[in-house]
Amino acid sequence: MVELVLDAVTKRYDDAQGTELAVDEVSVTVEDELLVLLGPSGCGKTTTLRMIAGLETVTEGRISIEGRDVTDLHPSERSLAMVFQDYGLYTTMSVRKNMAYGLKHSTDLSKAERDERVQEMAEMFGIEALLDRDVTDLSGGQKQRVALGRAMVREPDVFLLDEPLASLDAKLRSEMRTELQQLQNDLDITTVYVTHDQKEAMTMADRVAVMNDGVLRQLGPPEAVYENPVDRFVADFLGNPAMNQLPATVDRRGDEYVLRADVGDGRIAFASVPRDDFDVRDGDHVTVGVRPEHLRLDDASADFEAAVTVSEYQGNDNFVHMSVGERDLTAVVPPSVRPAAGDTVAVSVPPNHIHVFDGETGASVR
Ligand code: ATP
Repeated sequence: MVELVLDAVTKRYDDAQGTELAVDEVSVTVEDELLVLLGPSGCGKTTTLRMIAGLETVTEGRISIEGRDVTDLHPSERSLAMVFQDYGLYTTMSVRKNMAYGLKHSTDLSKAERDERVQEMAEMFGIEALLDRDVTDLSGGQKQRVALGRAMVREPDVFLLDEPLASLDAKLRSEMRTELQQLQNDLDITTVYVTHDQKEAMTMADRVAVMNDGVLRQLGPPEAVYENPVDRFVADFLGNPAMNQLPATVDRRGDEYVLRADVGDGRIAFASVPRDDFDVRDGDHVTVGVRPEHLRLDDASADFEAAVTVSEYQGNDNFVHMSVGERDLTAVVPPSVRPAAGDTVAVSVPPNHIHVFDGETGASVR
């Protein structure tokens, strides 16, 4: 069990243009799990990872591994291994030499032990047959495996990965995703994985940490973050197609709130929800959200009508883009439901799948 703790870790860059707050008091404890740092470009995820690695100084806050404060330690003293998007392999060396290089500082190992470790790791990554090849002759996927093998051969306490699959094609990326997951499960190693790819995050993470503007917005298992986003940013960032979000006004009707969405040329009764479910008041301005897969089309109990603009056949489902007044909505529906552009469809919104966000702050008010 290896515990990596970030305690209010902050990074400020000072340059001629002024001060940039790249990471703002990020606190998280990672323990025998794969934590994915997820967020848009510039949100501070790489800087966070580089501070854990010791490649970037920490402006404020502490980082510890196994209770040992490593904040000011050199990267080589932190017992961690890092794999980058561009692999960082030594192109003049063979695969075997590249992998053995990871053990350069392990003075307590004999030559035979080192050879054995390299062999074991090569088997684990399915690259035994490549050990004597030059790194330059390898495909992208093979290079990626070598880079991972070289990192793991040292048996680090903490494994750090920065967009390791970004330069692979879609098919290989999905294969490597599964392999990495299996590997992490087998080795049970504390891992921090940086990506801007939400699919990678959703499929691989034990927990995901969604960042924006240097701030950790939400931390939790992928399903929890997807199903209960704390704010509009997280709601919008996770999910493809993105969550439908519309400005709305709360209208109390007995035990229900009718959420009247502003569609530009008037309001529609977008959805009705039980009053007890949401912390809002009659007349409040909010944002109402519903995921595309939860919108139902041509249901008998329709809430409103929409005009289909584009129907995208996807094989296992259809993306139906619609307009209601001046707003756009997207539904993901089974392949059997295939309205054509120009059709009018009846849309219903299941109350238990409604999200409501504060009109000003964007925070979830459930
Ligand atoms: P990407 O996915 O594009 O790498 P990121 O989420 O990893 O983005 P960071 O690279 O951590 O984001 O950058 C966070 C912020 O810090 C950005 O606004 C970036 O411009 C700034 N930044 C990063 N490195 C430096 C640096 N060496 N000097 C000044 N500012 C920097």
